[in-house]
Amino acid sequence: MKLCTYQGARGPRVGVVVEDRLVDAGFDGPMTALIAGWGELRPRVEQALEVGDARPLSQVTLLAPVLRPGKIFAIGLNYADHIAESQAQTPEHQVWFTKAVTAVNGPFAPVTIARTGPRVDYEVELVAVIGTGGRNVPEDRAAEHIFGYCVGNDVTERFWQHRTPQWSLGKSFDTHAPFGPWITTADAVADVHILDLSCTVNGDVRQSSNTRHLVFNVFQQIAHLSQAMTLEPGDLIFTGTPGGVGAAMTPRQFLKPGDVVRCEVEGLGHIENPFVAEA
Ligand code: ZN
Repeated sequence: MKLCTYQGARGPRVGVVVEDRLVDAGFDGPMTALIAGWGELRPRVEQALEVGDARPLSQVTLLAPVLRPGKIFAIGLNYADHIAESQAQTPEHQVWFTKAVTAVNGPFAPVTIARTGPRVDYEVELVAVIGTGGRNVPEDRAAEHIFGYCVGNDVTERFWQHRTPQWSLGKSFDTHAPFGPWITTADAVADVHILDLSCTVNGDVRQSSNTRHLVFNVFQQIAHLSQAMTLEPGDLIFTGTPGGVGAAMTPRQFLKPGDVVRCEVEGLGHIENPFVAEA
């Protein structure tokens, strides 16, 4: 199933996407509440899907599938070609940073290049959405804790990322966590570790890889993170970006106002964001 958050007449609503149409999920609450209660609520959503009115997806504004996740964690240096272009060593331990939840942005919404942070770069990533929460989740049970998957762009301000050892500020500018276009539930993804992913800037392919090249796979990531903290329904995990970022090009290429960045993951759809200067 593909679950989205869309702009309804009186505020955000959860919907179900079926091919090129959308049906309201018949649920008066945010996506996080639907995820938390999914075991009981799923039959209700399936019923809404049968009786609800479908409207063309093209007439709907899709919002970030989870508008206010409890936390957003992202892993650095997790594809070999990105490690090489970053002139880094393959990490012995997983390298984690947070993105502020206020960075959340819609799948087709503008991304702001701030006056204070002009060196903005793209990073296409597979995003895992936590379903059942938990602590100390073993790797071989991690799949049971994943509600579904999205496409994400871990937008990064490179100057702020690298001028201190801690990356979080450079990863947390407002609007710098666009993801979506919807959550594809985990039961609809046969194997998450064989998916092509790519990123284009104004139609030029910049990144093209496959999740089989993840250094630490998604299940290892959840096992590792949950040793430290309780994962909760709706938490987001950005699982790393492959090579091809603008900061590693010669000369370095940062995004400019007017650029359009499209990120895609096989079977999960795509997001496409125009980049604009801060007003
Ligand atoms: Zn990243």
